[in-house]
Amino acid sequence: MDFITCPWCGQRNPADALECRSCGGPLPVSGSDPGPEPPPPPRQLPKGYKNRVLWKNAPGNVIGLVFAVIGISLLCVFAPVGLISGLLPMLCIGGGIGVIFALIGGGLLYTGVRNGLRKIRPYELGRAAVGEITEIYRDTSMEVNGRNPWAVRYQFEADGQLYEGKASTWKYAPNLHKSGDRVHVLYLAEDPEQNALYPPLG
Ligand SMILES: [Zn+2]
Repeated sequence: MDFITCPWCGQRNPADALECRSCGGPLPVSGSDPGPEPPPPPRQLPKGYKNRVLWKNAPGNVIGLVFAVIGISLLCVFAPVGLISGLLPMLCIGGGIGVIFALIGGGLLYTGVRNGLRKIRPYELGRAAVGEITEIYRDTSMEVNGRNPWAVRYQFEADGQLYEGKASTWKYAPNLHKSGDRVHVLYLAEDPEQNALYPPLG
């Protein structure tokens, strides 16, 4: 049986479903009709979506968090013990390694969460526009396990100006859309460069 994976929570749904049976999120519509309009902002996102974007689908963030926790633990344990006991090597190693781990972890986490929020914010707060798919191609600039995702480019108008956006998906994008298809786009009024397709392609 054909199925469609929910882009919000990952649940499998029958191919003809309009809403996810697990999280209730709207499922992507293929073809040239943009489908039901997004509700007005602020939007309550389907359950699990933030968690997926920020943690489940973001191994870098998890690694960053682990590094940060290790670094801070080292600092909190070894540095005071070294300081009290006067064991300089313990202070240097515990403190030094702790600082390095905390900095690497903190940096990874900061960048990862910032990128994740750029993905999430248009869904929560974005204004809606009807845009148009302009291009679909294999994105060779990204490779995971020898595979390239599909890039779906679109354009939309905000305050009389034309903007471009790009969505990435591991699904076979030519089955979902073709150039010229009309799609819902959400963008931040203060920065339309932050935009997303609604619903996400997954
Ligand atoms: Zn779902």
